[in-house]
Amino acid sequence: MKIREWAVRAVDAVAEWQANWGAYAAHPSLAVDPNALARGLAELSERLTGNYPFFHPRYAGQMIKPPHPVAVVGYLATMLINPNNHALDGGPPTAAMEREAVDALARMFGFAEHLGHLTSSGTIANLEALFVARESQPGRAIAVGAESHYTHARMGHLLGVTTRSVPADARGRMDLDALAELLAGGEIGTVVATLGTTSLGAIDPLDAIVPLARAHGVRVHVDAAYGGFYALLAGVDPDGLDPAPWRAIAECDSVAIDPHKHGLQPYGCGAVLFRDPAVGRFYRHDSPYTYFTSGDLHLGEISLECSRAGAAAAALWLTQRLLPLSAEGLGAVLAANLRAARAWARRIEASEALTLYQPPALDIVNCFPTLERPAMTAIDAASAAVLHAGMREADPVFLSTLRITNEAMRQRHPAVIDDAAGARILRSALMKPESETWVTWLHDRVAGLAARARAGALPMPRA
Ligand SMILES: *Cc1c(COP(=O)(O)O)cnc(C)c1O
Repeated sequence: MKIREWAVRAVDAVAEWQANWGAYAAHPSLAVDPNALARGLAELSERLTGNYPFFHPRYAGQMIKPPHPVAVVGYLATMLINPNNHALDGGPPTAAMEREAVDALARMFGFAEHLGHLTSSGTIANLEALFVARESQPGRAIAVGAESHYTHARMGHLLGVTTRSVPADARGRMDLDALAELLAGGEIGTVVATLGTTSLGAIDPLDAIVPLARAHGVRVHVDAAYGGFYALLAGVDPDGLDPAPWRAIAECDSVAIDPHKHGLQPYGCGAVLFRDPAVGRFYRHDSPYTYFTSGDLHLGEISLECSRAGAAAAALWLTQRLLPLSAEGLGAVLAANLRAARAWARRIEASEALTLYQPPALDIVNCFPTLERPAMTAIDAASAAVLHAGMREADPVFLSTLRITNEAMRQRHPAVIDDAAGARILRSALMKPESETWVTWLHDRVAGLAARARAGALPMPRA
């Protein structure tokens, strides 16, 4: 689809609506000099060239990619009106679209009843879930996996709730024995499981965590900010994405998901869903500024945030119309990511230059240069050298690094000598379906760099 053409159509459609309200003169204080704008835009365009090419398959670093053009067009059209989804009066159509889009997320997770809304991010979505956790289980602590997102501990601090870290197993998943031991202590009120950790894409065994938690009267929140949309492939992935953890989401108390990660949306789009709508009672709402013209529950009454972009809801809603939450719709995008990650992992395993850190559970591939004397210090230096040379050389490749502990390395590669406290290894998020056709290029490029790092032929960046 040609974004240029559809952007013009979107602007025209809004202008047509605006024209119905009668002409009025724009205030002179808002006027700008077209030449100054041209200069400003030229400078902006120039400064934007300082970005890494997130859109291109040669970029496989962080979880960043442009939104789908459909989302851009939906966002643009709506932004010209700029509704605020805090209250129904702030934009009735986008409030309705938010409900419909969140209902679709609820159906994807198998929630029958639910209370949910969009948030500006996964962090805020998780914050709301932890807030409800605190209110539901006053005085009790929250258990989070050692590999969970760093913001859980931060938000626990903010909420004045103790968080306890549950050690990870040799694949970066929450260790069930350690969890059982922690729950037996009686201190925990809520467990936070992660479906798709940010570092490794690891999937906590939610299907086992839920019964364990229930046996202790403990709630379960799922942080599916990154991996949540892979629920679309549960039971349909031919190469064995185990459906059980994804199906167990339906039994959990709450779930967070980031449409701005795998849902093709621009930043500013997270979501939180609660299985029991009665948790709405925890949100105190006594804003004197909002006049309600309807008796319906307002999104602002069940959200910690006040102003939120109606455009984010419209963009998500429009995207769901074109790429629905099904295995054939958005699922086809995710399936290509999985195939890319698996294909690259197979190549790494067959390679002399790279060592696979662990098999990818989703679309994140972690590896490190194979060295004659594998020691943490050398692996760290070689990984950093590959990262930096990859970005700077002609025909660049963009990766990221992940810091791992000696213990984590020992669990997977016991032969590695731990001569330092941890090391950086290479990490790639294959978030774009186009990566699939670039796997050979990616592998050859990175393996080539790793071979040069081993031969001491790459410049070593400072640690
Ligand atoms: C990205 C991520 C978050 C944080 O979400 P933001 O939208 O970046 O605030 C939380 N948990 C997981 C597992 C994530 O991958």
